[in-house]
Amino acid sequence: MDSPTERYEWAVGCLKDAQLRLTRPRQCILRALANQKAPVSLERLADDLEEACDVATIYRTMHRLRQAGIVRQVNLAAHCACFTLIAPGERCDYLVCRDCGVITDLPDAEPILELEKQVAARSGFRALEHETEFYGICPDCQRNTNPLRHR
Ligand SMILES: [Zn+2]
Repeated sequence: MDSPTERYEWAVGCLKDAQLRLTRPRQCILRALANQKAPVSLERLADDLEEACDVATIYRTMHRLRQAGIVRQVNLAAHCACFTLIAPGERCDYLVCRDCGVITDLPDAEPILELEKQVAARSGFRALEHETEFYGICPDCQRNTNPLRHR
């Protein structure tokens, strides 16, 4: 599920299944989440959606969306609570920069999927899920060229 439109439509379908109305704030939040795969913080969302909804509305909406299984909360280090859609087939494997806090998808998650298979085989668990976070220093911060670094 790659395009923002597909992800948005999936989320709206889930909302209907959960018998939740597609209110204007929900619409805005789901669009914002569908537009990017990396988890986004409440503060970022509030900045992006300043006209559409306030932080309290976003917070309440996230709670409902989590209960409905549409959104996952990812707690990345001490940065903040971030949120992302749980669209089918999408993984939660991230690289997080300790300096600037940038979050990117892990480029190759094959070894982690392999590990998950091994864990399933050895533990007898079924339907495993996982969230992986690697912390380090991103290439921009290593080159000391990242303008976000010394905020
Ligand atoms: Zn960085």
